[in-house]
Amino acid sequence: MGMGRPERAVTRIDLMADLSSLTSSAYQQALEVIASVEPRVAEATRKELADQRASLKLIASENYASPAVLMTMGTWFSDKYAEGTVGHRFYAGCQNVDTVEALAAEHARELFGAEYAYVQPHSGIDANLTAYWAILAHRVEGPWLQNAGVKNMNELTEADWEKLRGELGNQRLLGMSLDAGGHLTHGFRPNISGKMFHQNQYGTDPETGLLDYDALRAKAKEFKPLILVAGYSAYPRRVNFAKMREIADEVGATLMVDMAHFAGLVAGKVFQGDEDPVPHAHVVTSTSHKSLRGPRGGFILATEEYAPSVDRGCPMVLGGPLSHVMAAKAVAFAEARQDSFKTYAQDVADNAQSLADGFLKRGAKLVTGGTDNHIVLLDVTSFGLTGRQAESALLDAGVVTNRNSVPSDPNGAWYTSGVRLGTPALTTRGFGSDEFDKVAELIVDVLKNTEQGTTKAGEPSKASYVLGDGVADKTRAASAELLAKYPLYPGLDLA
Ligand SMILES: *Cc1c(COP(=O)(O)O)cnc(C)c1O
Repeated sequence: MGMGRPERAVTRIDLMADLSSLTSSAYQQALEVIASVEPRVAEATRKELADQRASLKLIASENYASPAVLMTMGTWFSDKYAEGTVGHRFYAGCQNVDTVEALAAEHARELFGAEYAYVQPHSGIDANLTAYWAILAHRVEGPWLQNAGVKNMNELTEADWEKLRGELGNQRLLGMSLDAGGHLTHGFRPNISGKMFHQNQYGTDPETGLLDYDALRAKAKEFKPLILVAGYSAYPRRVNFAKMREIADEVGATLMVDMAHFAGLVAGKVFQGDEDPVPHAHVVTSTSHKSLRGPRGGFILATEEYAPSVDRGCPMVLGGPLSHVMAAKAVAFAEARQDSFKTYAQDVADNAQSLADGFLKRGAKLVTGGTDNHIVLLDVTSFGLTGRQAESALLDAGVVTNRNSVPSDPNGAWYTSGVRLGTPALTTRGFGSDEFDKVAELIVDVLKNTEQGTTKAGEPSKASYVLGDGVADKTRAASAELLAKYPLYPGLDLA
């Protein structure tokens, strides 16, 4: 109360205020149509909205898309096959798919200042796999075909193929390690990327938790990767992509930046200059549904040089494009080009600062000592808990987070020692700095009142925990009060 911030209203999903009654009846009717076939799906859909409305969503990779984005996904574009690229399809009748795919790509190029955009990948992981094959095709296959003196692959003999397969499978990739905040697809051994490539990883400085560019340069010089991957899922700091490019150039590597997590901060111009990956990377991959607040999906930006190889994504690597999702990407990218999205992105970063400050002033420990993006990585060992225990206790109290490794995690990748928190979703609802300070207070209160449980044999457990009496109810009541001030999809009534 009394925290009146009229400008916050602008950062909410803009179209909602105008469309609420229309949106409300459209969804009512859609659910009735669904219920006439399988009522349990309609019921689960209603319940999902109720659950999302009632919880403090702090999962750093999640957000709330606008009704316009959501509705665009529920149309007959879903029924159309469109393998190939705009104007060059393997199926007839793709003129309308061409329209929406070209629009999505145009908006993406304009939004990010990219030479080329490919909007077909179905998810971030698919975008990475597509990009890896594109880079291999451009760097290895192309020159190899030239050396072999053939124009296209059909002219290769079986012996040529055998040699080419050896070349492709003999390339090196250097990415950020998982426990430093990198992603599974950046060369983690059990992932396909760790099997396709000879992989090596860079980490963070053990003292500060920050990226150490000198150590990274030394490793790159020694390892000589074909691909240097930058980007992260759980690193609470900004990356200097100009420096990354310098290192890539020194060793002749292609710089690929995976901005899946922070694309919204790039789109909203919070990350500029050296922190904007687009002018520095050869290839940039991303999701569209995290901080960028679009439909669930992926996309790739590239320089002209890499464009023809990236274009081969479908059907080389990807299944048929999801035309309805490409249409929704066009809508989401159009939203992100509005000035209100810049305000939103700045709020996301400011709010992460408030959340971090809220923890630090209450004595909690943060990996790297703070944040300068949208992520706060809370080290819960000082509460005597594992990440798993903290995540579960918080969920009991209606606070949705995910456990996460901290660098050199003593509890391993399953139990972990951290909890990752992000501000994109609650910022969309309208939360500001006071609300995020309150969120920190609630979380610290829950964790202080949680104790490590024991195994059946009476040993200390890394999974079980005991939550103090009344803590869950008290926290739920306090967060319900916060959430009531910033309703999710206000006016959308499914009763
Ligand atoms: C989330 C994420 C992905 C995977 O995205 P999906 O859409 O879940 O496939 C890839 N890379 C990074 C860095 C991510 O954070």
